[in-house]
Amino acid sequence: MIFMQNIDKIIEQLVENKNININRDELLQKAFSYPEIKQFLQKHQNELTAENLKISQSKIFEYYQQKLHGSMPGYQPKLFIENGVINIKYQPTSEKISNDQKTAAKRRLQLINIAPAYRNVDLKSIEFDEHRANALSEMANFINKYGKEPVKGLYLAGNFGVGKTYILAGLANSLTKNGKNVVFLHVPTFIAGLSSHFEDNSLQSEIEKIEKTDVLILDDIGAETLSPWSRDDVLGVILQYRMDNNLATFFSSNMSMDELQEHFAHTKNTDESVKARRLMERVHFLSKEVIVGGRNRRQNY
Ligand code: ADP
Ligand code: MG
Repeated sequence: MIFMQNIDKIIEQLVENKNININRDELLQKAFSYPEIKQFLQKHQNELTAENLKISQSKIFEYYQQKLHGSMPGYQPKLFIENGVINIKYQPTSEKISNDQKTAAKRRLQLINIAPAYRNVDLKSIEFDEHRANALSEMANFINKYGKEPVKGLYLAGNFGVGKTYILAGLANSLTKNGKNVVFLHVPTFIAGLSSHFEDNSLQSEIEKIEKTDVLILDDIGAETLSPWSRDDVLGVILQYRMDNNLATFFSSNMSMDELQEHFAHTKNTDESVKARRLMERVHFLSKEVIVGGRNRRQNY
């Protein structure tokens, strides 16, 4: 019988490789008395004929071998009955499932000019103090309502080093765990690097990726050097798209919203308050201003 030959072959190999002195019957007996196998056989004894149990020996042996020397990391063998005989399926372990979910979540977060360490910030572990209480409770409010009812993003305004980027990173990681795609972009570096896209015509696709993502986080807006073009045809276009499509958008800035409007009005020494106001209307539409306070948490300060 073919199944029997399989077992004999495996045993032969085992004996050859490991120089062990065991015979087939002895090994099978060990397999049959292995607690989980014993339990399975007891539970299903009424479903297995003597003939089918014999046919199932190779699977029982395979299961036993996998349990002893599992050769498939991340998977666990499970016995089941199919067409009257025993078969094995390999199921991912809960550890593997959870790791796969984490990997998938990380893939949903795209950092553009943001330090990779921010991938590891967990919103739940961010300490709560009076200076950031507002920001964190608004964040919780957003997460509760997002996808269920219209809710604005946040504009975190506050001094350098108080933790604005850190808090937004916590938000980003929480959203990707829930299946959302997030682009987290450092505005000054992005704006300064725009010309690098000219050579290969990749600017259009870069902008599309940014404007279409489920959630967009614009970090450190106001610290960039704008030209009328980068203000109106890049930032302006992205924010308009977010607004027209009701897409969640967050900001962090060392400036208040009022200060940001001033910043937008002065590109390369020209005063364009009308255009600045138009851009700020989009920021206002998309987000709610929250002040973040507290000490500077950066080292060496
Ligand atoms: P901001 O964006 O407001 O300038 P950051 O978010 O960059 O500030 O935070 C400054 C530094 O403090 C970073 O190194 C960050 O990792 C750290 N940091 C901020 N908030 C926390 C926190 N709640 N727990 C631990 N480290 C934090
Ligand atoms: Mg920051």
